[in-house]
Amino acid sequence: MLIQRGGLKAVAGLGISGVSAVNFLHEHGYRVAVTDSRANPPGHDKIASDVQTSFGKLDEDLLLQAEEIVISPGLDPQLPEIQAALAKGIPVVSEIQILRRATDKPIVGITGSNAKSTVTTLLGLMAKDAGLKAAVGGNLGRPALDLTHDDPEIYILELSSFQLETTSNLAAEVAVVLNMSEDHLDRHGDMAGYHAAKHRIFQGVKKVVYNRDDSLTRPLVPDVTPMQSFGLNAPDINQFGVLREDNGTLWLARGREKLLKSSEMYIQGTHNVANALACLALGEAIGLPMDSMLNTLKQFKGLEHRCEFVKEIDGVRYYNDSKGTNIGATLAAIDGLGAAIEPQNGQVAIILGGQGKGQDFTALRNSLEKYAKVAVLIGEDRPIIEQAIQGTTTLLHASSLKEAVELCQQNTHAHDVVLLSPACASFDMFSGYPERGHKFVEYVNQLN
Ligand code: ADP
Repeated sequence: MLIQRGGLKAVAGLGISGVSAVNFLHEHGYRVAVTDSRANPPGHDKIASDVQTSFGKLDEDLLLQAEEIVISPGLDPQLPEIQAALAKGIPVVSEIQILRRATDKPIVGITGSNAKSTVTTLLGLMAKDAGLKAAVGGNLGRPALDLTHDDPEIYILELSSFQLETTSNLAAEVAVVLNMSEDHLDRHGDMAGYHAAKHRIFQGVKKVVYNRDDSLTRPLVPDVTPMQSFGLNAPDINQFGVLREDNGTLWLARGREKLLKSSEMYIQGTHNVANALACLALGEAIGLPMDSMLNTLKQFKGLEHRCEFVKEIDGVRYYNDSKGTNIGATLAAIDGLGAAIEPQNGQVAIILGGQGKGQDFTALRNSLEKYAKVAVLIGEDRPIIEQAIQGTTTLLHASSLKEAVELCQQNTHAHDVVLLSPACASFDMFSGYPERGHKFVEYVNQLN
């Protein structure tokens, strides 16, 4: 352990990763305090009794007494209380920083606007199937510091831009920014800020994986750093990509070597081909055998709420993509499903809306024009979305998700697809994307 057990460690913001940070630091013998603006923050009953607590407001006095502040990803470092601490020279770090200091085991760092959870989960399964003792978590599943209890050989971490903005010198064994599209601009200010936060994942990195189709994912690193790329075109030697046969068969490939037909995977859509290739590149970087990775890939069924097939009613297929909380994800869903049903003259009825997070929804226009027969708008930012996509397809309004599902049914027929992929956060109507997705599935099951 490299950290000094000296001054006070103050955890700002409780919640899942805050609880894990408090308990980790406490177990390692530090003096720990925690503050949260909520009077009864989630997890307040899960921390040791001798941890000093200050709830009901973010306690600036307490923060100013700290030797170091561990900030939860849900808290904006721009908050005046945090800024006051920074102004006094008190370091503000993420729980990922604490993990980096606490372990000398390799870390795989995975970020991006979309596909983080899919890639992290799949790579974790590949590692485990190959016999590696991997701990998988971070921004998904278990918080990073909880993973230390597993004493793993390697950490495979999904990292959000919020976690990365307070993490320095991650020194990952291999790191990737999977893709970059607009998201969280309400917090990062603009794309430059968001990009800068994401690229912190490459500080001190040993090997890089990047996406050839998205130049914003390619980092500036020293020339000697090994770089491996993936993309949806024919790959150069030793790179990962796609080879297309004249009959339309699509192969995942490494250089000229055909590895697997895309039809042999359960996960669908070209975006998932890209995700699979990213996993193969990352897996290769940590020494996983190709045969074993391909076996895992053939068995992977994908995650709930990510273009998840729900049901077919009267020839109309219903998909739950509630995790489509930004434009990039929703474009992947419309383009992927739209292209698949186009040969049968099928079209997409899409449910859009919620909290728009400052995104520019005109980016949806081309895909809606091409593939959508109707867009049903729900939620708080309906007027903004309506204005941005006016004239692309028929626009309808619904005051509830249930009504939106019913309107979609009324406006579709055989070969069409009904897609919940809102391109928005859900907190105006739901507790989060899982509840929104579960409700969608429930309402679809009530249709007859
Ligand atoms: P994250 O953890 O980054 O949010 P997920 O794997 O949970 O990523 O997927 C989030 C959303 O992004 C889902 O709607 C999913 O269908 C979509 N998605 C998955 N892979 C990609 C990709 N390569 N490009 C764009 N969207 C994607």
